[in-house]
Order: sequence, then C-alpha cells, then structure tokens
Amino acid sequence: MHGAEVTEAVRRVTESGWYLLGNEVAAFEHEYAAYIGSPHAIGVGNGLDALTLIFRAYMEMGEMKPGDEVIVPSNTYIASILAVSENGLKPVLVEPDPATMQLDWRRIEGAVTTRTKAVMPVHLYGRCAFTDQIAFICSKYGLKLIEDNAQAHGCLYHGRHTGSLGDAAGHSFYPGKNLGALGDGGAVTTGDPELAATVRALANYGSERKYVFRYRGRNSRLDEIQAAVLRAKLPHLDADNDLRRRVAARYYSEIRNSEVTLPYTAAGETLGERVAGSVWHIFPIRSPRRDELQQWLAEQGVQTLIHYPIPPHKQECYKEWSSMALPISEAIHREELSLPISPAMTDEEVSTVIKAVNAFG
Ligand SMILES: *Cc1c(COP(=O)(O)O)cnc(C)c1O
Repeated sequence: MHGAEVTEAVRRVTESGWYLLGNEVAAFEHEYAAYIGSPHAIGVGNGLDALTLIFRAYMEMGEMKPGDEVIVPSNTYIASILAVSENGLKPVLVEPDPATMQLDWRRIEGAVTTRTKAVMPVHLYGRCAFTDQIAFICSKYGLKLIEDNAQAHGCLYHGRHTGSLGDAAGHSFYPGKNLGALGDGGAVTTGDPELAATVRALANYGSERKYVFRYRGRNSRLDEIQAAVLRAKLPHLDADNDLRRRVAARYYSEIRNSEVTLPYTAAGETLGERVAGSVWHIFPIRSPRRDELQQWLAEQGVQTLIHYPIPPHKQECYKEWSSMALPISEAIHREELSLPISPAMTDEEVSTVIKAVNAFG
C-alpha cells in the first residue's frame, strides 16, 4: 500500500545520508504524538522494547521495584507479558471477558494486592480494551494504566485515540500491524514528561547528554528510514482502517453459518462509525470445530491464522504457570480463527472468504 510515497520516503533518507537520530524521527515523533493525542512520543526499536522501557523507566523513577505486580490479560500476545517479567516484575494473569475477549474489568479488583503497581490493557485484535471502570480501579488503588497499543493504531474510545487513555502506551510498527514500517519499529507515548525523558535516555544507552551515562541503558532506536516510511503512511491510517471496516461489515452481513461465532459487537456499536469498536487488526471468529474449519478454508484457498494457538500460561518460558486454570483463555486459544482482513483486499477476495465459510458444514 502507498508504494510511491513509501519509495519516495526511503529515497529521501538514502540521499540525505543520515540514518539515525535525525530529522525524520523527530518529525515522526511530533506527528505521531499529535495523531494519538498524547504530549510525548519517543521512537524506539520495536513494540516489545516500547513496553519494556516503560516499566524500566518507572523502576528508575522509583515508582516500581523488582517483585511488584502488573495485571495483564491472560490471553494476550506473549510480548505484553515479557515486557513485565524482563524487568523482574511479576505478571498477574487476569481472564478476559468471554464476549469481547478483552481484559475483564470485573476481575481486576480481585487480583489487586499490596504489591500491584500497574494494569496493562491490551487492545487485542484492534479492539479497545480500555474502559472507564479500569481507569476508576487504577485511580482508586493508585495504579499506573499502561496500554499495549501494538494492534490498535487509530482506534478511538469516545473520540480519544487508544495510546492516549492511560499513563503511557507502547506501540509496535512491525510490518503487519495497522501502521507498519518496512521492518521493526516502535514508540512510547505518554503525558508524563519525566517518564518521556527517562524512556528516551534508557533507549539511548542511558544517556541524556553525549558521553554522560545516567542509567545502564540499552540501544533501542527507531531508524530514519522507518520513521520516514511511517510519516508517509500515517496520513493514510484512518482511510486504511476504514477499508478494514468495510471488509468487516461484509463479513457481518454475509457470513451465515451456525458453526461460526462472529466477533462480539455491543448494542449501538455500528461498524461504519469511528466512535467505538475496532480497527480490525484481526477479524477473530470462533468455532468449536476451529481446526476442521481452518483445514476446510485452506482447501478452498483461504489462508487463516490462529491468534494464538498456545496461551501464555501453557508456554515453556512460563512453565511455573502450567498448572493454572484459565478456562476462558484456554477456550479462546482452542476456538479462535482469524479470517483474512486488510485494506488491500479486493471485493472478490472477500467474497471468496465468505463463500468458503458459509459452505463449511
Ligand atoms: C506485535 C505485538 C507486540 C510486540 O511488537 P514488536 O514490534 O513485534 O516487538 C506487543 N504486543 C502485542 C499485543 C503485539 O501484537
């Protein structure tokens, strides 16, 4: 998508000969912060680093210490959880609402302890996971609200973009995300100037001034070429998300199969509007016969993915959690299937998917 503008952006950087920490990153940070509606944006190397650096910065600022707890959704992508454990913090898995598949605010208070320091809603599949109740619980217990916005660029919650709703947010620009670069990229957004400065220093070897090191930092930079590409694509993000909504609207109106449950939509949440709902990073249907359905669709030429086949608590890297019972997450991981959705899909491709799903029996 947007090939000519992307090529021009790459050419501009290669001709300038300036590849790191230059004008493109500074301009993208400015433009992305304005788009999200957050006072500060800091470009970093990828989405996992963005989330990891937020927690690391809070630790440097004395707001969190090793062993403190962070509430995360139990059905998220592993990166959300890695960002917590990487810092010596303890991820506390909380089950999602079975309908929306998003972090269930009703279960959060029961998981809060004296060591809880933050809640991390993940806007999974492109759908807003933030609710006023989550914000209320965070303020009641003095918890940071950190958004994982890797899958939801452009998603709105009552007119405000996800990524601007809490204390800080991590964003990924992995090529397959709604706003994707030509390689790895990420950003942190926040309204807190101290957090912004600390993340910026940590991502630059821990330095605020050249050759003076305040923290034991790392190197996590968004490079100039990726920033230029993202600047070319950002003005098209809303229109691209509208194209995703059009595909979703056809799936809702034309898929008819009792073996399949379409993603939940709340009453009054219409697909065409930008007020609520989803930017459809993924179109997650569910079926008790998921594996058979996936096989059938593949035979009809429709490639699907599973987000995700193994829940985090059943992964080898967190084997200490293997005996936990998280039945809602386990059911999602057993039943979820992601139908193709992208701004580049043709009407004919969408029809092929619909026909193939409807013919499954
Ligand atoms: C993609 C993703 C990340 C990580 O982003 P990378 O840029 O790949 O490191 C984090 N959280 C979620 C929910 C993601 O989908």
